[in-house]
Amino acid sequence: MPDAATMEKIVALCKRRGFIFASSEIYGGLGSTYDYGHYGVLLKTNVKNEWWRAMLQERDDIVALDSAILQHPRVWEASGHLAGFTDPMVDCRTCGQRFRADHLQDLQCPRKPSKHPGEGPNCDLTEARDFNLMFETTMGPVKDSGATVYLRPETAQGIFINFKNVLQFSRKKPPFGIAQVGKSFRNEITPGNFVFRTREFEQMEMEFFVPPAEAQHWYAYWKQARYDWYVDLGLRDGHLQLREHDPDELSHYSSGTADVEYLFPATGSAGSAGGARWSELEGIANRGNFDLTQHTEFSGEKLEYFDPQTNERYVPHVIEPAAGADRATLAFLVDAYDEDELGGEQRTVLKLHPRLAPVKAAVLPLVRKDGQPELAREIFTWLRGRMQAEYDEGGSIGKRYRRQDEIGTPYCVTVDHQTLEDRTVTVRERDTLSQQRVAIEGLGDVLAARLAQPWRSPKDAPPTS
Ligand code: ATP
Repeated sequence: MPDAATMEKIVALCKRRGFIFASSEIYGGLGSTYDYGHYGVLLKTNVKNEWWRAMLQERDDIVALDSAILQHPRVWEASGHLAGFTDPMVDCRTCGQRFRADHLQDLQCPRKPSKHPGEGPNCDLTEARDFNLMFETTMGPVKDSGATVYLRPETAQGIFINFKNVLQFSRKKPPFGIAQVGKSFRNEITPGNFVFRTREFEQMEMEFFVPPAEAQHWYAYWKQARYDWYVDLGLRDGHLQLREHDPDELSHYSSGTADVEYLFPATGSAGSAGGARWSELEGIANRGNFDLTQHTEFSGEKLEYFDPQTNERYVPHVIEPAAGADRATLAFLVDAYDEDELGGEQRTVLKLHPRLAPVKAAVLPLVRKDGQPELAREIFTWLRGRMQAEYDEGGSIGKRYRRQDEIGTPYCVTVDHQTLEDRTVTVRERDTLSQQRVAIEGLGDVLAARLAQPWRSPKDAPPTS
């Protein structure tokens, strides 16, 4: 069966159900910026929380950090971003559009017939030149060159410059990590593909500081751990791969980089030329001691570790898993999107991992009379203390199930006439459509147990007869 998901359907669903909207829409939009609505906020928050869970709660060798977006301009000199955080750009003298020179095969010329930039008879591309992706702004009231600061293009540097602080106050020693989630900004030449590439986005980055001799071991460890994170959250095997970079793709300081890639569906939207393609979700890099050495040189502050046991002083090496919260959210949405037929009607359903689902349970009275709404509200009020829940009494029960399916709610709890007699409700499962009667008193535990179970995407499973 071909995958029902296309990028156009995802964009439409996101708008229809209030996950993600184009930003500044009433003013005609602002290229490739997006606002997250209610369900989008809940979903992306769950993605970030799962990342924090894997980084902090399930281990004891990583600590959290939230550094400032605006940092001293010297940070970006030391990191190499000021001189080298560039993408090659070409202009078309005919249509006036700008394109990333190394992505021409993925892009569409805005003129018809549709071709890649440079392939139409009238295309007239300039030579490629470097374009720095950092956004500049001015700090303080005086707009002179001394006050130029940059919106951070990655969260990682905020971690490196706090290495000494964390080392002093966290009582950690290598191997240990510092994790951060936050906004980053890149003035991308050709943003697009919905929230896959935007100019303002959220990153989830962790810098793992290790004794130099252990770097290869930890590089292999984090590649596997990060791949497994996506698998555990339900992304289908056939749509996920780990790709080791070729030597000519590596930055000069990296002795190894691998990407976790997802097979995104075909799209004709937002400047992309279509066709399912493997695209980066996350990069895992063995960065050596480049970052700490650079900041030591530029700041004059020694960023190293003294091991009191061996009396050795060394600059730790760094393994960096760097993920995007928006890209991951998009991948989870795409992977979950499905269409099937139910009672002769087409159903759109998000088969999200229950832990990622924006709403875990919806409480629905079968009819709006006979005391059912009152009891359903009572159950909802109690349940929402334990999990993200929703109450809905508007429209036919079938319509309400469909609404919950579309936002990926794994469990619908229905209150009917029998509930008033024996205090049991039905629990309907989104994926199997099975319905089970459960005592109200045990409902919270039943749902919590189901939410805690391992979960695999049913999308690729053979149909049950
Ligand atoms: P790409 O090659 O796609 O530009 P990158 O290799 O420059 O990405 P990194 O600098 O490694 O990306 O950033 C880590 C992660 O941050 C990426 O894997 C991605 O998930 C996310 N990310 C980077 N740039 C963007 C962007 N413009 N929009 C959304 N997410 C992004």
